[in-house]
Amino acid sequence: IVRVRELTKRYGDLTVLRGLDIDIQAGEKVAIIGPSGSGKSTLLRMLMTLEEPDGGEIWIDGTPMWSYEQNGARVAASETHLRQVREKLGMVFQHFNLFPHMTVQQNITLAPQLVRGENGGAATETAKRLLDMVGLADKANAYPAKLSGGQKQRVAIARAMAMSPQVMLFDEVTSALDPELVHEVLMVLRKLALETDMTMLLVTHEMAFAREIADRVLFFDQGRILESGSPDEIFTSPREARTQQFLHTVL
Ligand code: ATP
Ligand code: MG
Repeated sequence: IVRVRELTKRYGDLTVLRGLDIDIQAGEKVAIIGPSGSGKSTLLRMLMTLEEPDGGEIWIDGTPMWSYEQNGARVAASETHLRQVREKLGMVFQHFNLFPHMTVQQNITLAPQLVRGENGGAATETAKRLLDMVGLADKANAYPAKLSGGQKQRVAIARAMAMSPQVMLFDEVTSALDPELVHEVLMVLRKLALETDMTMLLVTHEMAFAREIADRVLFFDQGRILESGSPDEIFTSPREARTQQFLHTVL
């Protein structure tokens, strides 16, 4: 459902992604691990169309993201096209970015009504179901300021899910949380991973969690996928010295 070919990204002299190739099947849970600065967030931002690549292409569900054919020629994607592709993806960031002046429920129902034209009743039903799933049914009318970090992050997950994306991207969603709040967010992610057929791409520093829920683990190093394999292959018997070294420092 996600296909990436020869993706490159530079910031000035700094090459952040060096010709990435990735294929992700529908329903797959993929964990991305790797050192700071290796390009993990850059990849996710590019999948989310928040940033433009310098080379290469991304296909989501068969649709090219950055270019498309017109009269047989490839042309750069329009803002309308990007918006259409973006709707197939949902992303949750390290910092939750909830709208502070809206209740939890309004945070979740806003985009479905505004972007997808859902009516208020349907959007509210969906919000209720999702809040139930993340264990916050009783917080529908609370404002974000009254929530803990873990609760905010669970609302952010529900909000992204409300758009029924085909692919969910999670960028270190637990790393800004106090240690005692990490668990409740991981519980929600675990539930999504084990009980739904949602395609999930997670950047995480929670190695035990990655090992538990991922079908496949990608190890990023200096803008490349240095090694990829099953959790067992990566965590028990990594082939590359760099992977071994990285796991040594984090485990
Ligand atoms: P971390 O684990 O710390 O989140 P990461 O693997 O997510 O790291 P990226 O955020 O993708 O790394 O950044 C990759 C490199 O690109 C870093 O060296 C970073 O400083 C650089 N970079 C990222 N965004 C920009 C930007 N907007 N302008 C210039 N350099 C950037
Ligand atoms: Mg990052």
